[in-house]
Amino acid sequence: MKTKPRVAVFDFADCEGCELEIADLEEEILELIDIVDIVSFREVMKEHSDTYDIAIVEGSIMRPMDEARLRNIRSKAKILVAMGACATMGGINKIRNQWMPDDVMTAVYGDADLEGNPLFDVFKTKAINEVVPVNYYIHGCPIDRDEFKHVITSIALGKKPEIPRYPVCVECKKNENICQFELGAFCLGPITRAGCKAICPTHNSVCEGCRGLIKKAETDCVKDLLERYKLSYEDIRRRCTMYNFGREECGVDE
Ligand code: SF4
Ligand code: SF4
Ligand code: SF4
Repeated sequence: MKTKPRVAVFDFADCEGCELEIADLEEEILELIDIVDIVSFREVMKEHSDTYDIAIVEGSIMRPMDEARLRNIRSKAKILVAMGACATMGGINKIRNQWMPDDVMTAVYGDADLEGNPLFDVFKTKAINEVVPVNYYIHGCPIDRDEFKHVITSIALGKKPEIPRYPVCVECKKNENICQFELGAFCLGPITRAGCKAICPTHNSVCEGCRGLIKKAETDCVKDLLERYKLSYEDIRRRCTMYNFGREECGVDE
């Protein structure tokens, strides 16, 4: 009988909300356990193993000690999956990169003596792929549970996961939502990767771009929308201040 791939879940700087989404799969997790062995997952189990095939990594890298730990995880894993916006692109943790790390530490900790303490030795926030090679991405803040299952199942079966490369607007139109621009709001859906079922505009909120950017607004519905509201891709790109902060290139992640 073929052995199941061993999966370990790790976290760095983040809120652990993506791990919570996995825990919230409840009975559906049984379908995954049929095809993989989960050997480490601090949020839900006590057992731990340093022998694994697939490392799922959540969170951003903020310190030299995180970087060393991540390199060690990478060295043991055949496949590394970056999970959630903090990991895939630095996410909201990258907002602080507009200031120098020392200034951020002073703003938070005042004049406390932190010299020489590695816990407080921080550098500018990095996404996982700025430190080690990443094989696959699970986008979102938080991730979509169905997409998580799809990605892990595909990897376990030796297939490439299919991740949307079209914009949120496509899913939003399918849901027959009134466009947020029509309501006077500014939405990042036209340049953001779909896959979340357009959950924010469907619940009357704007898209903030948590699944990362697509390269071009190529679909007809986006072209029409940009034309109607006299917007360019760059106009929308400039509004990406929550996620995608400081990313020079758009759509770099698969
Ligand atoms: S991507 Fe969002 S939900 Fe996931 S860990 Fe980061 S902040 Fe939390
Ligand atoms: S701009 Fe936003 S609200 Fe309008 S169609 Fe696109 S995703 Fe939906
Ligand atoms: S609509 Fe936008 S912000 Fe909301 S979950 Fe989807 S990609 Fe993220």
